[in-house]
Amino acid sequence: MDERTAQELTESAAIAQQKGRHLDAAAMLHEALTHDQWNGGSWRALGRSWYELRQLRAAENAWHRAELLGSLDGPTARLREMALIASGRKAFSPEEVGARARSFNHGALPAIEHFVADAEFRLPVLFSLGEQNRFQAMLTIDDGPHPQTSRVILKTLKDHAVKAVFFLVGSSVEAYPEIVAEIVADGHYVASHGWRHERFPLLSPEEMVDEMDRTERALMQFRPTPKPYYFRLPGGDGWADQRVHAAIHGWNPDVVLVHWCVDSTDSMAPFEFLDKEARELDAELRVLHTLTDPAFSAPIILAHDNIVVLRTRDPAFYHQFYSRLIEETRRCGFEFVLP
Ligand SMILES: [Zn+2]
Repeated sequence: MDERTAQELTESAAIAQQKGRHLDAAAMLHEALTHDQWNGGSWRALGRSWYELRQLRAAENAWHRAELLGSLDGPTARLREMALIASGRKAFSPEEVGARARSFNHGALPAIEHFVADAEFRLPVLFSLGEQNRFQAMLTIDDGPHPQTSRVILKTLKDHAVKAVFFLVGSSVEAYPEIVAEIVADGHYVASHGWRHERFPLLSPEEMVDEMDRTERALMQFRPTPKPYYFRLPGGDGWADQRVHAAIHGWNPDVVLVHWCVDSTDSMAPFEFLDKEARELDAELRVLHTLTDPAFSAPIILAHDNIVVLRTRDPAFYHQFYSRLIEETRRCGFEFVLP
């Protein structure tokens, strides 16, 4: 497919959209977008307007969502409708999306449970805040601290008067104690994310204990050891691994593995394809993606500090992403809470 064909696809998509064939439009736009990304191009090079870019990115989200939902059993019709709204919408209305998001329940995604306390696991695993707290949200921020990114996040949280849970990497706590002190001074909750962000299932029991122990010794300098002891596995890996449960339980039986039910997908932002304005737009669309997640009830939201995988630490992305996430989550009726 050459550039002109991508242009034609975009035009055909616009016609389909006018006729109310939103899913067809999303498919065509998705094809054009994929083509462009695989060729390392940028929408700017194709002369797209900001508005078109916004529509295309929304369509891409919608298409992925529709594909995903199509593979699920159960009440997918309404979920599919969400994707149609996202693809066909000209102006995103948070109230509308929020109302719809709240109307879903966990039955839509049966794999997501509030709490896994099965006998085969030694430690509880937390996915959400529970149905009784469905208008509450816990914002969790992994992988910090880092001198280039943590402070813009702290400033954004402070401007919005939001407290979050920072799952910190122990070796970075040791390297940047002054930033950890600022996080704690701002009233946020600091918790362990392992010493070096190693994948726990790949470690020996002794290595797992060492990761836990070294990180807690670093964190103890900023707050007393909490009980229950919230811990997020690096990458979330090992939450259903009995070896991991046994090793961590042996270290401290009060550990709760804090997973998540809503991934903001901030760590998958395709920065290498985007200029600054587009990055900020991307941040905004990731918020849309998050808020249209059917699991967005009493959510534990996964987000990141120091997204090293992206090879960029652009503060503009973090500011835009967290501002929009907080504003829209509140406009949808949720309040942020700490453990
Ligand atoms: Zn992480």
